[in-house]
Amino acid sequence: MASSDRWFSEGAQIFRRMDTAGLFGTTQLPEGGEYYPCPSCKTAYSRDEISELSREDVPPKSQGGTPILLTCASCNHAAGKHFDAHAARRSVIHNLAMGRDPRRKVRTEFNAGGAVIRGYVSHDPQGMVMRGVPEQNSNEQVKAHIRELDKMWDSGADPVFTVKATERFIEWRAAVSWVRAAYLASFTALGWSYAFRPELDPVRHQLMNPDSETLRRLALIDLNASTDRRGMLLVKTPEELRSMLVVIGHYSILLPGVTDPLSCLELSEAISQWSRPGSLANATLKGDPVPWPTQPKYAMDEWLLGRLNRAGGSQEPDS
Ligand SMILES: [Zn+2]
Repeated sequence: MASSDRWFSEGAQIFRRMDTAGLFGTTQLPEGGEYYPCPSCKTAYSRDEISELSREDVPPKSQGGTPILLTCASCNHAAGKHFDAHAARRSVIHNLAMGRDPRRKVRTEFNAGGAVIRGYVSHDPQGMVMRGVPEQNSNEQVKAHIRELDKMWDSGADPVFTVKATERFIEWRAAVSWVRAAYLASFTALGWSYAFRPELDPVRHQLMNPDSETLRRLALIDLNASTDRRGMLLVKTPEELRSMLVVIGHYSILLPGVTDPLSCLELSEAISQWSRPGSLANATLKGDPVPWPTQPKYAMDEWLLGRLNRAGGSQEPDS
């Protein structure tokens, strides 16, 4: 895990330099030593506690992500349980409906004329395949179901056969998973001076209070988009949508931007107005692209420290 060590050291070093330069105002690290604050909960971990940090996949691994940063393992696990699991189930159902991802099975109920049996649906090269699961259905249920199917076959009437997915996910929890992925990707690209600004407090508050449902809608979904889309853009126009746009697969997430940032609440209201039939296609967003990070970059932290150095405003050594 050489990269974990390196990511810890680089992160601890740049956070210390920023703290020393007074860029965090009230943040105080213990004197000396290396400390890496978790970007998600702000808990500062010393080198002795490095085992409590984990390399996190962005987006979650189930959604095709790769590890790009360190977060604390407890934040990582909590997000997996409260948010990412919902995003995963949502995409399983969506992919099934779209005929993608043939290996996955979705738990379903098959209803023929009121006689219900339980099973699952999957995609084969031949098409959609439905299978009952014998252990989950009594003989009586199966017989009743077959009787109803026979009846449908025999009567010339339009058959009523329904398939209901019984996998459960909660839409807002799935959406928070994508906002979290966008937040972590933005941190990885820009650093703490971006992630720890007060405009992003509502995101962290939601993550730390997973059942609170406090975060307003910040994500737009385009189910026709390719799942491996990745992109970041510091949006300048239209001005009402100035923000950090993070595009991951089906989702476009707008987070508060860098210059004169809108609050999460203001952004959420702007998104509602602009997203008439649910797509960003209506608004042409223009601004400065930010390269998708594959490891911590701290671009904004470095820029701020560099500017302080040039202004002679700190005792920072030249680097
Ligand atoms: Zn944490």
